[in-house]
Amino acid sequence: MKESRPAITDVSENALVVWLRERGEPAYRAKQIRRQVARGTADDWSGLTDLPAALRAALAQSFRWSAVEPVREIESADGETRKVLLRLHDGHHIESVLMPHHGARNSVCFSTQAGCPMACAFCATGEMGLVRNLTTGEIVDQIRHWQRELIAKGERVSHVVAMGMGEPLANLDATVTAVKMLIDPELFGISPRRVTISTVGLVPQMDELAALDLPMNLAVSLHAPNDRIRFSIVPSNKRWGVDEILAASKRYVEKTNRRVTFEYVLLSGVNDAERDAIELATRITKLGRTSDYQKARDSGPSSTGRAGLGSYHVNLIPVNPGPGGFARPPVERMERFAEVLQEHGIAATLRISKGQDIAAGCGQLKVAEGRARAS
Ligand code: SAH
Repeated sequence: MKESRPAITDVSENALVVWLRERGEPAYRAKQIRRQVARGTADDWSGLTDLPAALRAALAQSFRWSAVEPVREIESADGETRKVLLRLHDGHHIESVLMPHHGARNSVCFSTQAGCPMACAFCATGEMGLVRNLTTGEIVDQIRHWQRELIAKGERVSHVVAMGMGEPLANLDATVTAVKMLIDPELFGISPRRVTISTVGLVPQMDELAALDLPMNLAVSLHAPNDRIRFSIVPSNKRWGVDEILAASKRYVEKTNRRVTFEYVLLSGVNDAERDAIELATRITKLGRTSDYQKARDSGPSSTGRAGLGSYHVNLIPVNPGPGGFARPPVERMERFAEVLQEHGIAATLRISKGQDIAAGCGQLKVAEGRARAS
């Protein structure tokens, strides 16, 4: 049977007010309902015990409690990182990952699309192609899934990263509406500084995001110091090349005053040479130089602060096993790459991503063909 009720997280506050009015209920209930839905203490409509029973029943009849339904969870050998397979109402599946950090923080990696149209050569999700965009509710409910169990332990989701399946900026509206719910103090109350959107580098959408002026972090999947290398691994580079992406990153920094992280997947023999590190460092150094516009405006020695080199960070990720048969470079080579960047004054970190054994590392999220039918 086809599910026709929208999920409550796909219903705007205004729409909920209209729905309440039609039933002679006061408008203030809309905020109350949305707050409780986001808080995560209840398992379903019956848990909203401070609402009249008749209203709860009516809500259940009109709205699904959640846009996603957990099918299976897998725990990493490290005992911390976990991945959940979630079913959508039309039978498609997505994945979301919880990365707890010694009780100090709980990061959730969420998906913005089922599959992904970008087809990066090393990425498992890219291999699937795009299935469809997720709705706002389907994005938010991934966070809600984890929030529900954390709240029982007196914890909550503290950080979120759009680094799951899909290209967030190819589904910009739903992603931005979801982020606005996540940072709303009345709803999830996550600090915008703890929200990161990762993009393959869709330049017009990077500018759109900057124009929103939300103080959240942007990660840009650069993966190469020049177009020649990037063409061979990131198909969208044909549309938006390295120079344009770097310029858009600078505009983002100048507009939002936030840092940009360049993601750089290290692929043995492809983009891991010392000369690649030097070229990358040179380009980022140029980016860090203040623009003429800024110099004119600031006209002082302090003009290195805002939008200077300190606004850029490079995150080096050894490739996780996946499509394309790429291999990780030897450790010394990866360390040397990081060192070159650091010698140029660029903050660079080399990180082995968590949860690889359960295929929950970067770019490993992929719903296998058969699974989608099995459940
Ligand atoms: N579409 C977004 C989000 C993708 S996933 C983007 O391109 O940024 C987040 C990060 O994981 C991206 O930087 C992506 O390039 C990286 N990634 C993809 N496949 C990977 C792999 N096999 N190993 C390591 N990182 C990978």
